Order: sequence, then structure tokens, then C-alpha cells
Amino acid sequence: MSNPKVPDIQWFEDSLKELVKAKDDKEKTSIIDKLRTELFNLESTKKFLGENAAKYFEELSKKRNEKLPAITNYPETEEEIQKIVEEAYKDGNTIVRVVGSGHSISDAIIDKENKKIVLISLKKFNGVEFISDDTVKVKAGTHLNQDPQDDTSNLSNSLNYIINERGYAFPDLGGIAHQTVGGFLSTGSSGGSSKYSLEESVISINIINGKGELKELTRPNDDFFAAGVSMGLFGIITYVTFKLNPNYYIYGSQVSTFVDEGLNSDYQKGCPIDLFGSTNKPQDVPSLYDFFANGSNYDAEYSRLLWWPQTDVNRFTIWKAKRTEVLDLKGFTKPTAPYLEFNEILGSQIPEQIIAHIAYVALNILYLIDDDTTRKIAALILSFFSGVVQQAFQDIWYNGLPMDDKVSDTILPTTFTELWFQIRNADDTNKIMNKLKDYFASGDSATGNNATEIYTTKKSEFWLSPSYDYENVIRIDFFYFLGNKVGDPNEFFEKCCKVFDGFEYRCHWGKYIPDNYKVDVNKYSKYNQWMAIREQMDPNQIFVTQYWRKVLNIEPQKK
Ligand SMILES: Cc1cc2nc3c(=O)[nH]c(=O)nc-3n(C[C@H](O)[C@H](O)[C@H](O)COP(=O)(O)OP(=O)(O)OC[C@H]3O[C@@H](n4cnc5c(N)ncnc54)[C@H](O)[C@@H]3O)c2cc1C
Repeated sequence: MSNPKVPDIQWFEDSLKELVKAKDDKEKTSIIDKLRTELFNLESTKKFLGENAAKYFEELSKKRNEKLPAITNYPETEEEIQKIVEEAYKDGNTIVRVVGSGHSISDAIIDKENKKIVLISLKKFNGVEFISDDTVKVKAGTHLNQDPQDDTSNLSNSLNYIINERGYAFPDLGGIAHQTVGGFLSTGSSGGSSKYSLEESVISINIINGKGELKELTRPNDDFFAAGVSMGLFGIITYVTFKLNPNYYIYGSQVSTFVDEGLNSDYQKGCPIDLFGSTNKPQDVPSLYDFFANGSNYDAEYSRLLWWPQTDVNRFTIWKAKRTEVLDLKGFTKPTAPYLEFNEILGSQIPEQIIAHIAYVALNILYLIDDDTTRKIAALILSFFSGVVQQAFQDIWYNGLPMDDKVSDTILPTTFTELWFQIRNADDTNKIMNKLKDYFASGDSATGNNATEIYTTKKSEFWLSPSYDYENVIRIDFFYFLGNKVGDPNEFFEKCCKVFDGFEYRCHWGKYIPDNYKVDVNKYSKYNQWMAIREQMDPNQIFVTQYWRKVLNIEPQKK
């Protein structure tokens, strides 16, 4: 990297130097405490962030979707949506796209190359109607949980809260639940469970196709399974109908464990999961394959691992949970002990996230300096600022399952690339994990300053879901902090994906997809059928962007 612009963080560096000179753990802890206080001291924080921290964070939060044009259409009825589509259909030159909560990369949402684009937000098209006891028809603009970025979204109009109040739940959720129903489904998003999946609750999808016609697609028809994951290319989803599960609580734990200390079912003595395929694995330590495929055997119906692979850090944070079997304890409401990703300061996780933000920026710069002392400083920062580690938690499903829901999109905005691999046995998983291990061992530019998430998902029935046809899956999700002062997410991701050249993987549709990635029938067995239904749904290609044309090999329309 040439001449990176290093921001002024002298005061921070001075404290770190003190830290390295500290003679024992007691002194280190006292310097770290001082550092935390200092970091949170408004003057220092302001000095670092500039005069207006709120403005700084607001600008930062726009980074993920800075290329999105202004939204001009906020339809409130299906008729209004139909009208927009009909006009585009007649015009023949206008592209129509929907933005949900905008959590996907902008390429997945809009068309950067086409000037005539109508961008629709469904934030005024939200609401939930119970059509029978356990069946709910939901407008596609409804958020799963509250989306802090949408001023119209709140707890009482969020889908999960509403169904929970009636005694119902979804089987699973993603790591955050700010998304809209339409956006979550369209990209095949899912949580970390090989046992449960939200998609299985979907029984019908109402969609306005490329001619402006209203279609109701129902299970188990082909067009339903094709449309379930269709990235806005089949039309505009207006309603999704779900058959719900009885609501439940989850309980679980999080531990942090070192990678290089051998294996042991006690996480303090060694890693309790065999991540790479050890030759002398104790019997009570599962292989990673087994941990994902048979999670119930390990109290891990839901799980996710965060790998911090940096020099001198190299540790895994293992989060796992299962459903509780009783709804209350002898008539009492079950107590909650929510999962805390960050320490609370005055009842809020936000102050600690500001500290984490500053720490990530500092790390991003420290990793440019290649020497042992700097690595030790970096390792210490990561150890002290990577959140609350060992803990047990118990919570209502919609608070507990999205473990990252409290991470602020403004303070810690993150972008991702995510590869899904089919795994048939422990050998498959070991090959993937060892490849990744070798890559991370190649240095700081490979590890970056953030974690890599490793999780699983359930086989999907939707034809273009990356887990369609896959009995078991491992997902490698590389994180990139958008507050980094040096580096470029796409360059970082391109290198991460290259590691798996020669492996067969499928990309998450809402995240960065490498340039050489093209989908064809070899990757998805129903690709040809999916393409044929797409053509019927949108004969004039009014939803097709240049990006999706390239990734999915959609030929221009024959005139
Ligand atoms: C912090 C963070 C955490 C995440 N965690 C997870 C996770 O745990 N698991 C996971 O699988 N993914 C995860 N993702 C990815 C995320 O779930 C997807 O990007 C998802 O699509 C976002 O939903 P959205 O409402 O923001 O949709 P958008 O990103 O706004 O849109 C996604 C796609 O759907 C289309 N679309 C949206 N609404 C409609 C509609 N009504 N009709 C037709 N097309 C529509 C859009 O045009 C676009 O192509 C995460 C992303 C972020 C930023």
C-alpha cells in the first residue's frame, strides 16, 4: 500500500507505548482502564472524530450504500406499486428496483449503469394481519425487528414483536433482524442453524410481476420455490404469508478459546471443537462438521463462531444456544438474561461500541507497521476490545437469536463477503478450514483487523438459495469494518475469495461477489428452470440490472 494517510492519534499511541512497557498484568489492567476512560472522555473522542461525532457516524453509515440514488417512491398500496411497474413496462427503458433496509451491497439493489431507474422503498407499505390463529400475512416492507435506521420502524410495528405477543415465533433468524421481510427472503438470508430455518415458515408470496400483474405463488409449486430467492428479478414482493411456530425462549453460552493450545472439552484448557482435523482428537470433542450437522448433540441447535486470526490473538469466540423446553417456571415468567455483545455502560452498549470503533481504526493503522512490538500492542487491543466474552444468556427467541442486533450500523458499520460450501463429512470441513488457516498465517493483510464468522445453515427449498440441494453447509463470512482509514473492502474481499479458487462455493446474494463469479447450471441444479420462470415473470427485463445480468448470465432481451 502506498502512502496511506495516517490520521492523528498520537495521544492513543502514547498510551499504547505505556502499555507495552508495563511490567505485570496488574499494571497493564490499570493502563487499559485508564485508556478506556480516556477513550470515552468526550474531549479525546471528539478530537479523534472531529468536532461533530454524530455527523461523522452518520456519514459513515452511508458508506455501505453511498451509491444508492435518492428514493423518490414510497408507495402505500399495491395499486400504486402496480402503476409504477406498468409505466416502466410500457416505457421499455426504465429499471425498477426495491430497497428494503439497504443492508445488501448497493450492486445487489440498484443499477449503477442505467440512468433511468425508479427506486422504490416499501417503508410505507408495512403491516401484519393474522389470517388465522397461527398464520400471518405480512406486507413486504415490514421489518423483522426494529430497524434503527428507519424512522418509521419501532418495536410495536416490528413483525417479530407482533407475532410473539400472540404467542408465535419464527424457527430461526439471522444474526441481525433489522431487515425487511422482502429483502431478507430475496437474498436467501438465514441464521446459523442446520435444524431450523425461517424459509420453511413461508407458505405464499404475493408478487407484482414485470407486466404489473399480481400473482400469488404458493407452496409447493415451482414458481413459489423459484421466486423465494430471486433478488428482485421476478417482480416486487408485496406480501409474504407465514405459518408460525409456538414461541419459545433460547438459552446458551459464549466462550472464547485459543486455537493453538490443543483440543479439550473444557474451553479453558483447549479448543472444544476440532476445527482443523487433529490426529489425536479426544472423543468428547466434536469435529466442526459434527458440531454443525448435529448441533443438538452439543447444545448448539443455533451457533456461530467468530475467528480472530490476528498474530498473537488467534482465538475463536463460540456462541451457541438451544431452545428451552418449558415456557415458564411454575407459573412465573421465564427470566431473561440477554446476551451482551459489548459491556454495558450506564445500561447501554453504545459507549463501548464507540470505543471499539476507535480501537478498530487504530488497529487498521497499526497493522501497517510491521514489527513485533506493534503486533503485541495490536493483540492487546483486540483482546481488550473484542467485547464481552464468557457468558451465559437466556432470552426470548427474537432478542436472543439475532446476537448482533444491538451492534450499531452507524458506529460499527460492516460489509461482508460470504461463501457457502457443501460439506459431506469432516474431511470437507477440514480442507476448507485448513485452507483458511494457511491464508491467515500469511500476514496482517489477510487477517485484517476484524473477525471472520463461521457458521452453518439448513438445506433450502428455494432454488437459488446458496443452500439449495446442500444437506450440510459451512459458511465463511469475512467482515470488513467500513470505518477503516486505509484499505478497500472490495480489494480485501477479492483476496479472501481467491483463497478458495478450485473449491466449489456459492456466494451470499446480498454481500460482495467476486468479479469472476458467474452462476450456471453447474452451481445450481435448477438454474435453467429458474431462468425460464424469470423470463415469464419479467419478459421486458424491467427488473434486470447490469450487475445481475453479469452474475446470473441473463442475456439481453431478444427484440
Ligand atoms: C450487519 C449485517 C448483518 C447481516 N447478517 C446476516 C445474517 O446473519 N445472515 C444472512 O444470511 N445475511 C445477513 N446479512 C445480509 C442481509 O440479511 C441481506 O443483505 C438482506 O437482503 C438485507 O435485507 P434488506 O431488507 O436490507 O434488503 P435490501 O438489502 O434492501 O435488498 C436486498 C435485495 O432484495 C431486493 N428486495 C428488497 N425488497 C424487495 C421486495 N419487496 N420485492 C422484491 N425485491 C426486493 C432488493 O432489490 C435487493 O436485490 C447481514 C447484513 C448486514 C449489513
